[in-house]
Amino acid sequence: MAQSRLSFDANADTPIHPLVLEAWVDAEQNYPGNPASLHREGRRAQGVLEDARSRVARLLQCSAKEIIFTSGATEGNNLALLGMADALSEQFGRPLSIWTSLAEHPSVLGPLRMLQQKGHLLTLLPVGKGGEISNEGWEKAAAEGTPDLIALQWANNETGVVQPLHLLQHFPSTPFHCDAVQGFGKLPLHTDVLRAETLVLSGHKLYAPKGVGILRVSEMALIHTILGGGGQQNGVRPGTESPALAAALALALELAMEEQRTFAKKANQCRRVFLDALHEKTSRFQENHTSKGLPNTLNLTFSGLDGRMLLPACDAQGLGLSAGSACSSGAPDPSPVLQAAGLSREDSRSSVRISFDRNTTKEEAHEGGARLGETVLRLYEIALR
Ligand code: PMP
Repeated sequence: MAQSRLSFDANADTPIHPLVLEAWVDAEQNYPGNPASLHREGRRAQGVLEDARSRVARLLQCSAKEIIFTSGATEGNNLALLGMADALSEQFGRPLSIWTSLAEHPSVLGPLRMLQQKGHLLTLLPVGKGGEISNEGWEKAAAEGTPDLIALQWANNETGVVQPLHLLQHFPSTPFHCDAVQGFGKLPLHTDVLRAETLVLSGHKLYAPKGVGILRVSEMALIHTILGGGGQQNGVRPGTESPALAAALALALELAMEEQRTFAKKANQCRRVFLDALHEKTSRFQENHTSKGLPNTLNLTFSGLDGRMLLPACDAQGLGLSAGSACSSGAPDPSPVLQAAGLSREDSRSSVRISFDRNTTKEEAHEGGARLGETVLRLYEIALR
């Protein structure tokens, strides 16, 4: 009999929430028109867009002017980092000292590398277990001077580690960019995150459609526009907005906030059940996540197994898991985050991420843990032959 398919890859993408889908379709069907047009259809579309903006602003405790709709977090990270660096370096009249961590997403490290190539000084803070920024690394960098700009994630997409953002209190006047993509909806919203000058979210990690995200730009932030265009959204992100995507995202964020505590509790139970079921089959694995990390995320290393076989073998057993960041999983390279956390190239390659969504049941988590256990046992047998 064919096995039911189990997908545990919520940190890469989440299934759309049925109410969000309804809101998206409703706005798309009933509010046509360009929100910048001055006729009635345009004004009605603009009404939907601005209602969504206000609702997001309420959730993120800021004014509606500070909310910019984007196509997703990659765009948001680029607009924020390149835009702030441009404005700050013009103000200071010199290259900037920018801090980030080795555990950041490529959509943060990418623009920062571009800035480094232009002459800015980039400090990559070292990380320890699970990719958590190490105290020693932070203190060493702090002993060398005050940064002009800091870019750090709230939580890591691969291991689920929650970064010690309270450390930023040491630099209260340094502009801070926060990639909050993985924390929102999984962790309680925290002032350490909300204090960011620029903050980024992505719809498709939160049961909203792909192709929409948020960039919150504080009124205090010094930022230049890096895209030329029609001047929409304060010029920071010119281009015609989608009222329907904005309405869908506003609802998705509201639901995610409402469900955060329940989700965290259920996801934590799924983690336990999954690990117990896996342990019943094998204990030949190492845990890269931490108990204080994202409640829905596990990251496991099966040392000695050929990483190139691990995911396809799981897939063949109806188990959709990930090697880390979906954006780079097509590449054969082992995870840079796990390597920065101290794992060897081989062990990084032999690692999988398991991430649960709001629909995952404990029964599915149990079945998933057992199926993964059986799969790796078979692979270990082959490796020993
Ligand atoms: N930051 C983090 C932490 C992520 O996990 C992702 C998605 N993998 C992104 C940024 C990029 O998001 P998007 O797909 O919306 O561009």
